[in-house]
Amino acid sequence: MNVTDFSPKRVLVVTPHPDDAEIGAGGTLSRWIAQGAACTLVVCTNGDKGSEDPEMTSPRLAAIREREQQEAASVLGLRDVIFLRHPDGDLEDTRLLRGQIVREIRRTRPDVVLTTDPHRRTFYLHRDHRIAGQVTLDAVFPSARDRLSFPEQLEEGLSPHKTPYIFLWGSDTPDHHIDIAGTLDMKLAALRKHASQVAAQRERDFTEFLRQMAQRAGKDKGMEAAEAFRVIEIMR
Ligand SMILES: [Zn+2]
Repeated sequence: MNVTDFSPKRVLVVTPHPDDAEIGAGGTLSRWIAQGAACTLVVCTNGDKGSEDPEMTSPRLAAIREREQQEAASVLGLRDVIFLRHPDGDLEDTRLLRGQIVREIRRTRPDVVLTTDPHRRTFYLHRDHRIAGQVTLDAVFPSARDRLSFPEQLEEGLSPHKTPYIFLWGSDTPDHHIDIAGTLDMKLAALRKHASQVAAQRERDFTEFLRQMAQRAGKDKGMEAAEAFRVIEIMR
């Protein structure tokens, strides 16, 4: 596919934790939204383990992270954020989770689904990332497509949907690159809303790390800044 000209109208993003989608695809989402895409974000876990503060509790952190995710979504201009609120670190490959993602696919009818690559071998991978990525792939194909899968959703008026493309961020073997030179600042602005994850003194390092990551991704592609994806095309 020619990703430079790819301008989806409806986009569904499934993120393991609050902030992963912005790190992996924030510049791409911002670019597509500027071109008119309606984008929905599904957040699988509540992020309630992501703190080293001895005073912090999981319920308080979950509330903070949900608010931060809403604010980041507003910066990017996402249409909708769906919080599934599974516990951080305890995401499981269940029929419940798959059905929840199938429901959002059938409801939003995306041209493309983005999630994290579950098949990374060269670097450690958080189990929630592995499971969110794998269950999302399973939800796109075959579950959301098949009318006899999750038939209870048909009764709610949700019909089967075939998603043509899956974009996986965080891949060992990316094969498509999106130019984000024009939206890198927007990506960083969205990420700054996840303040509980980026302590003030580390913010400059984190911003610099993400800038360098974008520069590296674009380097051999003639782009100042890019996000890299492994793209799967689902045959019709
Ligand atoms: Zn994560």
